[in-house]
Amino acid sequence: MPIVEARQISKTYRSGDIHVEAIHPIDFSIDTGAFVAFVGPSGSGKSTLLNMIGGLDKPSAGQLKVDGIDIAALDRKQAAQFRGDTIGFIFQDFNLIPVLTVAENIEYPLLMVQNWSVQTRKERVNTLMEAVGISEQAHKFPHQLSGGQKQRVAVARALASKAKLILADEPTANLDHQTALRIIDLMKQMRDEFDTTFIFSTHDPKIMDAAECLYTLEDGCLTAQPNPATAKEGQS
Ligand code: ADP
Ligand code: MG
Repeated sequence: MPIVEARQISKTYRSGDIHVEAIHPIDFSIDTGAFVAFVGPSGSGKSTLLNMIGGLDKPSAGQLKVDGIDIAALDRKQAAQFRGDTIGFIFQDFNLIPVLTVAENIEYPLLMVQNWSVQTRKERVNTLMEAVGISEQAHKFPHQLSGGQKQRVAVARALASKAKLILADEPTANLDHQTALRIIDLMKQMRDEFDTTFIFSTHDPKIMDAAECLYTLEDGCLTAQPNPATAKEGQS
């Protein structure tokens, strides 16, 4: 079943007299549990697409359904609720909160959106810290962590509220080669374990190799290309 369905969506940024056609009308769909990437040169609209899928921005035209919900129809409050319930974000510069510990960073989204008891929250945080291999750093602050450890925390935070869909904008851009490979492995493991859908924006050949399908953006247009090395059976 598709978790993302885009029909003729486009995006034009307007400021004063200047119009930037970031995305021409495009169609695509992404299946639940997929591990796929938007690729393309800088400025080709990768982040714009992720932001629209995440309800941070709206298409100028066309229909974009995420988990069956028409993104354009949501007001600000509904969009925030939708993000809290459905989406996890991972960024290239980690975006951890510097004054919170590792455990508190992971717990933070749970405070915002869920009516979980303290006990349930703590258990969830512990499960996630274990899953991403960061339990020993639970009480450290972000500045005490390496880049790879920070991104592990970000992956755990994105998964904390049981999001169905993780949007990761160039998540390996600030990691060295070996660390990036380990983080990609970790994300794929999380997909396998929780059936969470992962959508990347990336320039990184390591993510492209791991992705099951590449959606290439060029001049506002999009072509989808399954990766024969990783495509799941029955996927096209
Ligand atoms: P990418 O992530 O592939 O590098 P972006 O989605 O960030 O590309 O940008 C696509 C195009 O849209 C670029 O030309 C960029 O300058 C433009 N753009 C992105 N965000 C805005 C904005 N908020 N206002 C105006 N133009 C924007
Ligand atoms: Mg970008």
